[in-house]
Amino acid sequence: MTVLIAGAGIGGLSLGLSLHQLGIKFQIFEAVSEMRPLGVGINVQPHAIRELFELGLEAELDAVGLRTEEVGYFSAQGGEIWREPRGALAGYNWPQYSIHRGEMQMLLLRALTERAGEACITMGAAASVANETEAGITATLTNRATGDKIGEAEGSVFVAADGINSISRAGLYPDEGAAHWGGIMMWRGTTRGPKFLTGRSMAMAGRKDCKFVCYPIHDYGDGTCLINWIADRSMPEDYSWREQDWNREGVLDDFLPAFKDWSFDWLDVPATIRASGDIFEYPMVDRNPLPRWSHSRMTLLGDAAHAMYPIGSNGASQAILDARVLARELRDKGQTADALEAYEAERREKVNALVLANRGDGPDKVLDVVAERAPEGFADISEVMSLSELEGAAAGYKKLAGMDVETLNTRSSIIEV
Ligand SMILES: Cc1cc2nc3c(=O)[nH]c(=O)nc-3n(C[C@H](O)[C@H](O)[C@H](O)COP(=O)(O)OP(=O)(O)OC[C@H]3O[C@@H](n4cnc5c(N)ncnc54)[C@H](O)[C@@H]3O)c2cc1C
Repeated sequence: MTVLIAGAGIGGLSLGLSLHQLGIKFQIFEAVSEMRPLGVGINVQPHAIRELFELGLEAELDAVGLRTEEVGYFSAQGGEIWREPRGALAGYNWPQYSIHRGEMQMLLLRALTERAGEACITMGAAASVANETEAGITATLTNRATGDKIGEAEGSVFVAADGINSISRAGLYPDEGAAHWGGIMMWRGTTRGPKFLTGRSMAMAGRKDCKFVCYPIHDYGDGTCLINWIADRSMPEDYSWREQDWNREGVLDDFLPAFKDWSFDWLDVPATIRASGDIFEYPMVDRNPLPRWSHSRMTLLGDAAHAMYPIGSNGASQAILDARVLARELRDKGQTADALEAYEAERREKVNALVLANRGDGPDKVLDVVAERAPEGFADISEVMSLSELEGAAAGYKKLAGMDVETLNTRSSIIEV
């Protein structure tokens, strides 16, 4: 019996690694014919890093990512609203990483093929469910470039980890249509520049409709680092947001003027943007929470199940948690529809709540509140927001995401090995 997985993104690869760890046979089908390290930086939170460490990937993560030491929120004038430690400095038993998304995908791919063999992934094969019997499920494999059918695969269950534009999800919910856009565009880039704040800080400045996010993803060891940055701006309704291509080139004039005065004592934002290598443009899109992920012998995982705004650094993290819970249920309940139901019962409502929280700006909401109360900035944050209000805002999201220190440090492993 084989678990069929569509998609070798962070979700599909984490599932493959977890099933291999448990001795469960699987096959991954990936639509692209060659994997390239696409995307820019992401942050992966300690609840997901715990899972990757339990898959034995600590050294690999340290080789390509940086342990995030701090998260900080700042006004559009650069004033400090709130800074809090992360990782070991915050008491977590596991770190948070700032890491290049594509490098992380390649890291998982290398680990998986070294452990399970190259043949566990079929490249150039887009997969979708063809039909199902009581005993199993059949997937159709298609060459996405030509549209030709290139084969079929028989398995026990089918897991669609095929991203925000999942064809399996579209098959289940044919009326859903395009992803949901809330009006914000994101411009993303990387710039070599001087270290800022602790040297391993993730910083958010501004407010929902005009925000700058930055964190280092590589330390050159000479006082400089590679700064991953994202500039968000709200755009008119008729803006051409529908092209969801992570490699779509961005144009400086579309967003730089909005940040031209943002020269802070901890970072010169316009200079950082100007000195960037390639700049990419992508709409901030998500999908509505679903009432059901599992349909008999097939289920959805990762962005296919719960694409969320990239706020609060939880997209990749939640895909990894999905993979771990699903692998455990497939071990405990066998490769059955019951296992998929049990996975969904543990995950769906929790992640749906996060999708909605991120629509309301997630932990970054504190920026919006401060900007509303003090649009011209402040001399002392305590005159704008009390310490208990700030602490409450930070703690609430962590609890919702399952990453508050105490819950994470004291709960048992998802997969005991
Ligand atoms: C090219 C790319 C670049 C990205 N860059 C960023 C970024 O810079 N910042 C950020 O925050 N997030 C980025 N993301 C999204 C981020 O990776 C996800 O939100 C998160 O990691 C959850 O991953 P996932 O595995 O569920 O989905 P994804 O990472 O989207 O992976 C889905 C995989 O499935 C494959 N696929 C699609 N359809 C099929 C099919 N029918 N059959 C088989 N395979 C299929 C895709 O090629 C892809 O490899 C990017 C995603 C992609 C695909």
